[in-house]
Amino acid sequence: MQLNFIHNQSVASQSGQTWPVIDPSDGQTFDHIQRSNAHDIDMAVKSSRECFEGPWSQLNASERGRLLMALSRKVAEHAEELMRLEQRDCGKPTQQAMADAKALARYFEFYAGACDKFHGETIPYQNGYSVLTWREPHGVTGHVVPWNYPMQIFGRCVGGALAAGNVCVVKPAEDACLSLIRVAQLAAEVGFPPGAINIVTGLGHEVGDALAKHPGIDHISFTGSPTVGTLIQQAAAARHCPVTLELGGKSPQIIFADADLDAAIPVIINAIVQNSGQTCSAGSRVLIEKSIYEPLLARLGEAFSKLRVGPASADLNLGPLIRATQKMRVQGFLEEAKAAGIRTVAQGSVVSEAPETGFYQAPVLLRDVPVDHRVAQEEVFGPVLSAMCFEGEDQAIEMANATAFGLVAGVWTRDGGRQFRMAKRLRSGQVFINNYGAGGGVELPFGGVKSSGHGREKGFEALYGFTTLKTVAIQHG
Ligand code: NAD
Repeated sequence: MQLNFIHNQSVASQSGQTWPVIDPSDGQTFDHIQRSNAHDIDMAVKSSRECFEGPWSQLNASERGRLLMALSRKVAEHAEELMRLEQRDCGKPTQQAMADAKALARYFEFYAGACDKFHGETIPYQNGYSVLTWREPHGVTGHVVPWNYPMQIFGRCVGGALAAGNVCVVKPAEDACLSLIRVAQLAAEVGFPPGAINIVTGLGHEVGDALAKHPGIDHISFTGSPTVGTLIQQAAAARHCPVTLELGGKSPQIIFADADLDAAIPVIINAIVQNSGQTCSAGSRVLIEKSIYEPLLARLGEAFSKLRVGPASADLNLGPLIRATQKMRVQGFLEEAKAAGIRTVAQGSVVSEAPETGFYQAPVLLRDVPVDHRVAQEEVFGPVLSAMCFEGEDQAIEMANATAFGLVAGVWTRDGGRQFRMAKRLRSGQVFINNYGAGGGVELPFGGVKSSGHGREKGFEALYGFTTLKTVAIQHG
């Protein structure tokens, strides 16, 4: 039985209710979390406020940095344990789960170093004045975390928030809490004061909603669906609370005829099959220049047909999807595509040892997908790649920008001028040239435009969002 972690103590919810934890690899319940309520959120917010006004405010920036560095080392020491927790909870293949544990340690390391290097400015003004700006923390920050990359998303939002001097109340997704409860315990072990990191588990419309509406929350960061992002922003707007939203994408990978296809093909495939396509920045559309459309589709199809899906611990190309309803969602998209006459080029296979009760979905490559079809417009959040054909830069840009989203875009071309032209014209928060994701570096600011959300996390840039600026003008004659 998993408990909430509030004020550095493991506590049961006041509701007395629990929620099952299901292993996506076999569909079986193996643990329970607390199904918390608004009372638990209130307790967590009060604890964090006490921390923010008490021991946390006593620490200077370099002391905060040392604590974050100690947590980074602790996470690295416990990487295997955290990997196993997240693997079972989320159905992640071993390599992916381990990469996520290492990324978490790296987030804390990066933000540990950033703490005492982030500062305000002095501004030249009229004679007789000295003007300076202070970067001040918001205070108690709320974090609603999704189930697809719990450790990584926790690292990027909580790491940045703490570095900037805030304290955190975290609501993990009900499907994926285990690793984050453990990380908060590790933080207490290395000396984070009670209330610096509180974890309250439960359902989104109950405890997530209570967090978003709590008057004691000074900033909210949310990663998840556009629908819930809208609810969070509405709740925050009612009390003018700043919000960072990361709401996913329908990201294009654009392949010109002069691209290095040998280098591009494995990247194109990884960008959609990583984490079984349950990635906000998944490269879910591949736009291919006409002269190489058929040959590249043939090569992609051949590679797709070799992809294997199986239990997380088997460490194959793909693990299961997070839950039964997610599998139904993906299959719904595929049925709609089939009904519209959209053809499948190839698909991978589910291995025979995969339990029938698990939530497995073979990766699918679709061709000639109309730009306006739902499968080319909406986030499937599963391993479905939509291929489309274009002629020339203008059409590539038109098609790439023709969704409501704008998170990430990839371009493959050897033409240097075209690389810059494309990067300038693509409407997205990140553009990758001759790669996709650049290895996910924690240093690289991340976030979207349009319905992909607003605000930036990761990198130094995140610290601006996690602080507010105070201008101090001193008249001294
Ligand atoms: P979701 O948006 O419902 O869940 C994300 C987080 O928000 C979870 O912690 C959840 O408990 C919480 N939440 C849900 N309802 C809430 C509410 N009313 N108030 C406050 N918090 C709330 O996502 P989902 O239902 O798990 O997945 C649905 C779709 O969302 C997916 O198929 C995918 O397209 C998208 N999604 C995107 C991301 C991403 O990284 N951008 C992550 C998860 C899901």
